[in-house]
Amino acid sequence: MSEIPSVTVAGSALQELLPPLSEQEAVTESARCLMCFDAPCTHACPTHIDIPKFIKKISTGNLLGSARTILESNLLGATCARVCPVQELCEGACVLGSEHKPIAIGRLQRHAMDYVYGRKIDVFHAGKFISKKVAVVGGGPAGLSCAGELAKLGVSVTLYEKRELPGGLSTYGIIVLREPVEVALAESEMIQRLGAKLEVGKDVGVNPPVTELQKNFDAVFIGMGLGNSPQLGIPGEEYIVDGLEYIERSKLEPSQLDVGRDVIVIGAGNTAIDCATVARRLGAERVTMLYRRTEKEMTAYPHEYAFVKLEGVTVSFLAQPVIVHHENGVVKGLECVRIALGEKDASGRAAPKEIPGSNLILPADQIVKAIGQNKLSLAARLDLKTDKGFIRVDSNFETSAPGIFAGGDCIRARGSASTVMAVQDGKLAARAIYKRLINHG
Ligand SMILES: Cc1cc2nc3c(=O)[nH]c(=O)nc-3n(C[C@H](O)[C@H](O)[C@H](O)COP(=O)(O)OP(=O)(O)OC[C@H]3O[C@@H](n4cnc5c(N)ncnc54)[C@H](O)[C@@H]3O)c2cc1C
Ligand code: SF4
Repeated sequence: MSEIPSVTVAGSALQELLPPLSEQEAVTESARCLMCFDAPCTHACPTHIDIPKFIKKISTGNLLGSARTILESNLLGATCARVCPVQELCEGACVLGSEHKPIAIGRLQRHAMDYVYGRKIDVFHAGKFISKKVAVVGGGPAGLSCAGELAKLGVSVTLYEKRELPGGLSTYGIIVLREPVEVALAESEMIQRLGAKLEVGKDVGVNPPVTELQKNFDAVFIGMGLGNSPQLGIPGEEYIVDGLEYIERSKLEPSQLDVGRDVIVIGAGNTAIDCATVARRLGAERVTMLYRRTEKEMTAYPHEYAFVKLEGVTVSFLAQPVIVHHENGVVKGLECVRIALGEKDASGRAAPKEIPGSNLILPADQIVKAIGQNKLSLAARLDLKTDKGFIRVDSNFETSAPGIFAGGDCIRARGSASTVMAVQDGKLAARAIYKRLINHG
């Protein structure tokens, strides 16, 4: 048995990682902003929030005005302030970043958002009723954004969510270190106060069927995200824990989450990093992420990778799981095979090839699988055209079925899926739907 090449780094309970800015800190930070004309930070924001405008309002103590500026472009401003990969977006584009520290745009946005949510201030109210009805499927960021924008325009919106709570992955999938559940729920409540009617426990396609929505509503928006983790297809897989369930439990029932002492997380994307972080913070002594390619091909954001290394997580590259070793269901280790990288495959990344006879067993008492999400089957059941399994939409976010629109992760065949992209899809789709409804009297 050979050894897997790895890097080990330093390590530390689940609470929001960054503290809120104090009033003084926010004013001081906002005063650093150069209020750039044609600001690159605004261009880099997928929802194009007027960043210098909201920052200027913070510097003059106008927090309500600041929140209004943010929410005009992005109804989920409190979530995005916390979960956006700002290093890759607004802050990455800030002109001060080249020689000084970029403006802490995410934390300033959170400061303005926390001001209105903390005081239960409703910045917007329902628009004048226009006697048009839209069904929104999925209460994640895409669905909430679409529902809220339509409600603001006076459309009667019913939001169907199959889970018990709204918020999608903001509620169930993004670790507390980045976003506590309460933040996602507060946003959903705000959108309900705008007039959107929320029905939870409704699995559209099963109950109610989509045909019923088509009959009873003027348009339908699908923002149903993606599904569970795919199967690895290896012996003993039934003893592997699903990464999304692991994170969900850490958010909603942390005292019920069993965390091993020696944990292997399969995968090297952002979900794997989150699972490794949860394991480490909840007491695992050793956490190893296992990836079949190298650091170069990892899909995790560089700043997330840097973070997990500081948490004391070890990353083992060029190895692929083949068998879960267990005794009566108690996990003892994960047998892996070493990998060599070949030519680029369809994903554009070097194809992993097993090296025969290079098997080795990594000791573990818990194995977590974080290897992406399956596409959902509703698209197939509706006979919608797809692109690599994702729902295909046109520039108006309309699917191949007239009157059915879609957005968020379920359409993201290209580029990396993120909350802010889902919010922008929902907003743009709402505008396209509204235009259609108005034009068709
Ligand atoms: C572990 C993890 C961590 C992440 N971390 C970040 C991060 O830090 N920053 C970031 O920007 N992005 C992050 N993302 C990605 C981000 O969460 C998604 O891009 C975003 O949530 C997509 O929003 P959505 O509304 O399209 O889908 P979802 O958030 O998945 O919401 C879809 C909703 O539709 C519901 N639904 C599905 N089918 C039906 C049906 N048939 N009927 C009714 N309801 C249905 C689901 O229950 C769900 O509530 C992360 C993703 C994961 C998995
Ligand atoms: S780029 Fe930086 S300095 Fe310029 S407006 Fe944006 S946050 Fe302010």
